[in-house]
Amino acid sequence: MQTSCFIDGKFVPARSGNTFAVRNPATDATIAQVADGNGTDARAAIEAASRAFPAWKNLAAIERAKPLRKLSELMLRDAERLADLCSQECGKPLAEARVEVAYAASFLEWYAEEGKRVYGETIPASDPGKRLFVLRQPSGVAAAITPWNFPIAMVTRKMGPALAAGCTQVVKPAEQTPLSALAIAELSVEAGFPTGVFNVVTGLDAPSIADTFFDGLTVRHVSFTGSTEVGRILLEKSAANVVRVSLELGGHAPFIVFDDADLDKAVVGAMASKFRNAGQTCVCANRFLVQRGVHDEFVKRLTTAVAALKVGDGRTPGTQVGPLVDDAGLRKAEAHVADAVAHGARATTGGARATVTGCTDRFMAPTVLTGVTPAMLCFREETFGPIAPVCAFDTETEALEIANGTPYGLAAYLFTADGARIMRMAEALQYGIVGVNDALPATAQAPFGGVKHSGLGREGGHQGIEEYLDLKYVSWRIS
Ligand code: ADP
Repeated sequence: MQTSCFIDGKFVPARSGNTFAVRNPATDATIAQVADGNGTDARAAIEAASRAFPAWKNLAAIERAKPLRKLSELMLRDAERLADLCSQECGKPLAEARVEVAYAASFLEWYAEEGKRVYGETIPASDPGKRLFVLRQPSGVAAAITPWNFPIAMVTRKMGPALAAGCTQVVKPAEQTPLSALAIAELSVEAGFPTGVFNVVTGLDAPSIADTFFDGLTVRHVSFTGSTEVGRILLEKSAANVVRVSLELGGHAPFIVFDDADLDKAVVGAMASKFRNAGQTCVCANRFLVQRGVHDEFVKRLTTAVAALKVGDGRTPGTQVGPLVDDAGLRKAEAHVADAVAHGARATTGGARATVTGCTDRFMAPTVLTGVTPAMLCFREETFGPIAPVCAFDTETEALEIANGTPYGLAAYLFTADGARIMRMAEALQYGIVGVNDALPATAQAPFGGVKHSGLGREGGHQGIEEYLDLKYVSWRIS
C-alpha cells in the first residue's frame, strides 16, 4: 500500500517528514500513516506537472488514450483490492465499493475514446480573403480537490477528461481517504503514463495546498467536489489569477412520487438513491415528496424495506449500510431527526443510533420520518445520512414549489407514468440532473453537475472534457 505523495513519478514523503493517520470509520482502526504534505509539496507537484505538460499535450490523442485505457483495465483487474481499500477508508459496504471501482474505471475508458474527438471548427468568413477557424487546446496544468464519499471515482472523473484533453494534473484527495488516490497513482505507473503527468499530494492542510493551486498562472483549472462552503472559498481564491473552476457542490435532492407511479419501482429507486453510502452522496434523495393518494402505501412499503436493511462494518459480508464517515456527520444526522421529531414528525423505523458489535458508535439506524414539513431542518439542509423524510403533497404545482424552494440544484427525481407531466416537470425543475423513474442517473457518458448553489461546470459526457480545453480562434488573411 502506497502512503507517500506521488510527485514526478515517484512516491515521496512530505517535505516536512510529517504523517497523519487514516482510520476506518467503522472501527477507528488505523489503516496507515500517510504523508502530510502541504503547500510546499503541492508546489513541487505543480512544477512536475508543468514540466510534463508540453510533451503530454503534443502527444497524439490516440497515444494519450493508451495509458488511460490501460489504467481502466488495471483498476478492473485489481477491483477487489481497490474496493476493500475504499471500504476501509470511507466505511461504505464492499458491494458498493465494487460498483464504485467499475464506475471509476468507466471514466478512464470513456475519456480515452472521447479525447480522440476533440474536433476544431471552421467558420465561413464574411470577408472572402480570410479563413477563420477554432482550435481546442488543453488549458495547462489542472488541479483537483476530491471528497471522501467516492474516494476512487471522484479522482478518475477528474483525471479521465483532464488527461485525455492533454492537461497534466495534481490531485489532492480528501484527508479521510487518501489511500485510494495513492492506489490509483501506483497503477498509473504500471499503466505507463509519462512522469509528472499525474501527481497526488496528500495532507491535512487543505487550504495551504489549495492556495498553491491559485497563486500563479501555471494551474489553469481547478476541479472541486465537496461542500458548498468550501466551493465558495475556492471561487473567491480563483479570482486572483482568473483560474477556471469546476465546482460539484452540495445537493438537496427532491424525490417526487406521484399517485400514478409504479410504487414498487419507486420504493426500489428510493432505497438505491437514499441509502447508498449511508446517504452520504451529493445526489442522494434528501426529501421525499409523495402525493397524498399513495402517501400511506409508499411510507408503509418504504418502512418495511428500510427496517430490513443490514447495518454494519462495510467489510462484513451482507452489510448494506455502513457508518457515518465521522462524528460530525453522525451529529448532523441526529440533529435532523431530533428537529423533525420535535416539530411533529414521527419515525416509522429507526430514529436513533444503531449499535454494531465491535465497532464505533458512528452508525445511524436507517430512518423513515413521516409528517415532515418544508419548515423542518431536514427539508432545508442536506442531511448526508440514512434518513428519509417524507412530506405529503396534493398538486403538481405544490410539489414543484417545494422541490425548487432551495438554493441547491444538483439532482431531482420523479416517479410517474404520465408522459406530459414528465416533460413539464423535467423542464421546470431547477436542477442539473433529473432522474425520471430512474434513481441512479450518473454515468460516464452524461454531463453531471448542478445549478444554483450546487456548482459550476459539468463532469462526464462530451461536455466534461470542455472544462479542460481552451478555445483559440485563428483568423488567417490569405488574400
Ligand atoms: P465534506 O464536508 O464533505 O468533508 P469538504 O468540502 O470539507 O467536504 O471537503 C472536500 C474536499 O475539500 C476535501 O479534499 C477537503 O480536504 C477539501 N477542503 C476542505 N476545506 C478546504 C479549504 N478551505 N480549501 C481547500 N480545500 C478544502
